[in-house]
Amino acid sequence: MSLDILAIAAHPDDIEQTCGGTLIRMAEMGYRAGALDLTAGDMGTRGTPELRVAESEAAGKVMKLAWRGNLHMPDARLENNIMARMTLAVKIRELKPRVVILPYWEARHPDHYRAGELGYEACFLAGLKKLDEYSEPHRPQKILYASLYADVKPSFIVDISSQFERRMEALQYGESTEGGTLFPNEAEIRDRLGAIARFYGNQIGVQYGEPFVVKEAIRIDDVVAMPVRSI
Ligand SMILES: [Zn+2]
Repeated sequence: MSLDILAIAAHPDDIEQTCGGTLIRMAEMGYRAGALDLTAGDMGTRGTPELRVAESEAAGKVMKLAWRGNLHMPDARLENNIMARMTLAVKIRELKPRVVILPYWEARHPDHYRAGELGYEACFLAGLKKLDEYSEPHRPQKILYASLYADVKPSFIVDISSQFERRMEALQYGESTEGGTLFPNEAEIRDRLGAIARFYGNQIGVQYGEPFVVKEAIRIDDVVAMPVRSI
C-alpha cells in the first residue's frame, strides 16, 4: 500500500468535518487518499463502536478513499505513549503516505490535540530504520494541520466548492436523538459546517474552503500568478 495523502484523527467523523473536502478533491485529482481514525468513538454519544466503524467505512467510499482504517485506541482517554506511537508509526510505514494531515495541535477535546502530537511524533519515528525489523522506514514529506476548529490564521485554504456536497453526504449523523440537547441534530450540523466552509471559502474568493496550517514557510514560484486578491 502506498498512499499519496493520509488524514489521521481521533474519532470517526473528525476527518469528514475538518478535511474531507480536501481528501475528496485529491482523490478526484487521481491521488490515492486515505483516512485513519485512531479510536472507534466508543465514548461518543451516538451508536456503538462497530456501527461507527461501519459508517466510517461507508463514508470512506463516499469520499472516494483508496483506504480507510481504525486503530481502536481508547476513546476519550487517548494517550501519547510509546505503544500508541509505535502502533501508529508502523501503520505509517505500511501506508507510506507522502503527505499526512493531522488535527491542529490545540483543541478543547484532549483526544484531538493528542492525536496531533501522536501523529507528529509517529511520522518522525516511522522514518527510523531500526524502529521495527518487519517494516521499511518511511517518513512523510509533508505534515499539514487541519485547523477548521482552531481559532488561528490558516497558512492556506483549499477550495472545496465542488466537493462540499459530497463531504456533507459522507457525514455520519445517525438517526438517533439520544444525547438530547448535548448533541446537535443533522440540520444544525449542516448549517454550522456550511457556515464554517463558507467563511473560509470567502477568504480565498470561492464558495467553500477548508483551512490548514503548516509549520514551515510555503514556497511560491510565481508571485505574479498568486490567485487571492489583496485587501
Ligand atoms: Zn473528535
